[in-house]
Order: sequence, then C-alpha cells, then structure tokens
Amino acid sequence: MVLQDIKQLLKAWTARDNRWLAVPCSVAALLVLLVLVKSYQGIVYYNSNECRIYRLGYPLEEAQSLASVLSDEQADSLVARGEHDSIAYPIIKQRYFITRNFEHYLAFHKQDTTGMPLSDIVAIVNVSGFPDYEAKPCDTGKGVLMLVNGRHYLDKSYQPDSLVTISRTYCYEDQKAQPAVVEAFMAMQQECKRQTSAQLMVNSAYRSYQQQIATYNRNDKRFAARAGNSEHQTGLALDITSLQHPMRGPFDTSTEGVWMREHCHRYGFILRYPKKQSLIMGYSYEPWHLRYVGVETACRIHDEGITLDEYYAYYLEDKR
Ligand SMILES: [Zn+2]
Repeated sequence: MVLQDIKQLLKAWTARDNRWLAVPCSVAALLVLLVLVKSYQGIVYYNSNECRIYRLGYPLEEAQSLASVLSDEQADSLVARGEHDSIAYPIIKQRYFITRNFEHYLAFHKQDTTGMPLSDIVAIVNVSGFPDYEAKPCDTGKGVLMLVNGRHYLDKSYQPDSLVTISRTYCYEDQKAQPAVVEAFMAMQQECKRQTSAQLMVNSAYRSYQQQIATYNRNDKRFAARAGNSEHQTGLALDITSLQHPMRGPFDTSTEGVWMREHCHRYGFILRYPKKQSLIMGYSYEPWHLRYVGVETACRIHDEGITLDEYYAYYLEDKR
C-alpha cells in the first residue's frame, strides 16, 4: 500500500515540471543507501574477531591469521586478556600447532622460566595434554599405531591377537612378538648382517602385564615402565643389541647399532625414545628399544624427526 502511494506521489510530482529533479534525487537516494550499507559493514567489521584482535595491537596480517585459525571462544578469550601476547602469532605458525591446545601453549609459555623454544612447547603440550595430565586407556583399535606411554595405558587383560615365537638364533631366551614385527625384524637383521657382519639379537619382545610388573620391580625406574604403560605388552616393541655388542652402552656406538638406527624405518621400525626428545618427552634415551609402526608411518616419523607421541597427537587424534 505504502509503495503504491509513493508511486502515485512520484507520478504526480514528476507530472508537474519537476521531471528534471528525478535523476539527482535518484542519485542522492543511492548515495544514502551506499552510506547505510557501508556503515553497517563497518559495524560488522568492528565487531569481527579480526578487528577486535587488531585493536589489541597485533599487526593486521597477524590479526587476520589469528582470526582465521582460532575458534570464536578462543578469540574471545584472547581479546579478554586485553593486551598483546607476543607468542600468540608465532605459536600458530609452528609446524605441529593444534588449535585446541592454543590456550595451553600460551599458559605453558608463561610458566616456563627456561626460555624453551616454541617448537618444544608445542611438542610437550601436544603429547602431555598440559595442563590436564590425566591418564586414559590406550585406543587399541589403532592397531600397529596404538600409543602406549605414561598417559595411555593398556588394560591388565590386554594381549595381542596373535604372537609368534622368534627363532632362538636371534634371542637368548624364548621371545614372542606380533607376526609382522618378527617378519620385519628378520628382514632387518639379514640386511644388517650383510652390511656390518654383526648379528642383531632380540633381548626382550612381548611381555604380559604380569611379566611387566616383575620387570619394573627389578629394573632401573628411569628406563622401566609400569605395568600397563609398557609398549612391550603390545607385542610391537623389541629391545635389540647384537651378538658382538650384547651390552646396551657399547651397542649404541657400535657399527651395527648406528646402522640399525639409520635404517630401521625402512623395515617399519622407529627408535621409540630418541636422544634429542628425551627432555621433551620425559623418557630416557633408549638406543635399543624399537617399536614397529609399519613402513609408511616409520618413514614419515623418521623424515619429520618427531616421536610417535607427537605423530599420534598431530595426525591421529581429534584436533578440534
Ligand atoms: Zn624396551
């Protein structure tokens, strides 16, 4: 009805000698409309995460990146701090940044008094779940990629679906492991022998929950895991030295020890507790402990220079 009335009014008005005014009036109306639209867009932008972060003092490019990465809740909490945080932007640029851990990285950095590199902070938070250290059951459905550590435990009753005995030629007492692990070990030891003339030997492979209790009780607690937290219960881990260097220390620096660390990924194994991550992960360096994860994953972990814990957190767990 109103539109009809306006039409009638315009008709009557332009019918009189006001026709020349029609064009300027239309232009003016358009300009008013444009100003209104722009004002609305301005208000929307002013309240956007990008602009709110920018107003805290972040350069525009950083504000844009932060806004695109963070959830609304995370942007709200960043803005609620009311000040610029110097690591907020660098942390989202870290290779293994996980969005859901954003606040934890900032909190960890604030508590750190050692000047730890951001990449280490990301690694520690990703694998430890800082500040929530609660232990959870291992997801055995992940198969050869299942994660067992101080935070992910196996049930008392867990045992691998299938275990095969390793030939006594390659171990000092009866040892068992999952079939794929034994097959991969046989291929690896054969090539190691061909190239270094040394014979790799399995010192320990599958250990049941009960056996692990005994192992923990009689060993150095820096190296031994508690029952339920040992990878040996999966049947996917092997402790290896050689016939020529049966002691762990000398094996570490022996030709075959070096060869094994450099080539084991090609057979699906990773060095589970490497030297450079011992501080970050809280495990001591174990040059003898290999973990089977399959060739594809082993090569990726080797190429990226990360631990299974970091790989698991970044690639296999829900990142949200
Ligand atoms: Zn071991």
